[in-house]
Amino acid sequence: MQSINDLIVRGATVTHRGQTEVCDLWVCDGRVERLEPEVALPSGATPREIDGRGLWLLPGVIDSHVHFRDPGFPAKGTMHSESRAAVAGGVTTVFDMPNTLPPTMDEESWTDKMRRARQRMWTNYAFYAGVHAERWQDALRIDPTQIPGYTDDGLYMHERDVLLCNHPEVLEKVLLEVPKMLALHCEDEQRIQQQLLEAQRSFGVDLPVRVHSQIRDEEACVTATQRVLEVQRSVPRPVHVLHISTAREVQLIRAAAAEGQPVTAELCVHHATFSQGDYGRLGAAIRWNPSVKASTDRDYLRQAAARGWMATLATDHAPHRWSEKGGPYHCGCSGAPSVQHLLVQALEWVHDGEWTLPQLVQLTSHGVADHFGLRDRGFLDPGCWADFVLVDPLGGTEVRPDTSYYACGWSPWERKRFRSRVVATFVNGCEAFNADQRLWAPAAPGLSCLFNPTA
Ligand SMILES: [Zn+2]
Repeated sequence: MQSINDLIVRGATVTHRGQTEVCDLWVCDGRVERLEPEVALPSGATPREIDGRGLWLLPGVIDSHVHFRDPGFPAKGTMHSESRAAVAGGVTTVFDMPNTLPPTMDEESWTDKMRRARQRMWTNYAFYAGVHAERWQDALRIDPTQIPGYTDDGLYMHERDVLLCNHPEVLEKVLLEVPKMLALHCEDEQRIQQQLLEAQRSFGVDLPVRVHSQIRDEEACVTATQRVLEVQRSVPRPVHVLHISTAREVQLIRAAAAEGQPVTAELCVHHATFSQGDYGRLGAAIRWNPSVKASTDRDYLRQAAARGWMATLATDHAPHRWSEKGGPYHCGCSGAPSVQHLLVQALEWVHDGEWTLPQLVQLTSHGVADHFGLRDRGFLDPGCWADFVLVDPLGGTEVRPDTSYYACGWSPWERKRFRSRVVATFVNGCEAFNADQRLWAPAAPGLSCLFNPTA
């Protein structure tokens, strides 16, 4: 009998494990059965056939850094709305950050999020355990085999000055206690406050948004990352430095890793796309924490990723209503929606010859799965879950409000025309999104992710 999850994609150009070649992908019961140049089906097998000729088939994107705002901020986004945008962009798995309401900092809030996700997520999912300088022991009761790691990311949204980089004595204790990777937001609070006062002296109270990159400047990031690396030298437990925005931090992390410190870097798509020169054109739409920096930093980050110096490419998808972005500087929110546009933006760098397809797949799928010890995902080997995306390399994507599916209804890429187009996204072997039919299939629910205990 044909199950809804049985299908075969014929003749697509598949990028997998460093190779790009024309292959057939046969999926049975949601998992990869075979990936071969020409799959000969056994008699009696009648899977749905999909013509992949002329299309690129890539493992689904694993976005290890999203803020879906659920529970707590439905006007910004929900698990349902943002994971729907994610599958429309070729993302099949997301790891969501803990700055929801209540924040995901104990077993109860984490269990509640898992329960909510079962009915709402189109993608596969996992939730970080939140830790910060004033509260971190509660997170230790959450099952470590079901979380990607521990993080302080975003938790400063509710309370100021709780990032672990600013409290080295607490960071040391946390590193000793947490049983798996700690993902950190590194910006020095003292430097930021000092730069803010300086900016107010020059501009008065109503600051233009472009000073965001002077307030949250290179020094703020470098000082914080340096401090984290110093602590980690005496407690060599795994640290993943999130959203690296400066060339100097990449160099610091490389040097520490070369000395044997278990430290890795995350690149976010916006830091590789925009720079402070874009504020004039895009204003508050490109206000992020950490801020976008000089164009030389932006270009360096892309090159660093191509050289394998970045472990993961993520979005830091962080939607806000447009009304929360603009207005006076001190009221404006940092963060922007991006989960639908990571893949088409990254494919631009492939078209430009800056990245190869295998490098892209390493950063978005293979490398992420390996880095987090994700079980049966991120690859298309027989037995793995069939999470993949079909791309028309020259199909074109124009970013417009009616084709962006974020609940907040805007995008920093508004009016941008990408060369590629996501044609269809498959989650656990089900077609979760089809661009031609503008269709999300209800039969394609995401599943919670499992991690290898040793990772
Ligand atoms: Zn974040």
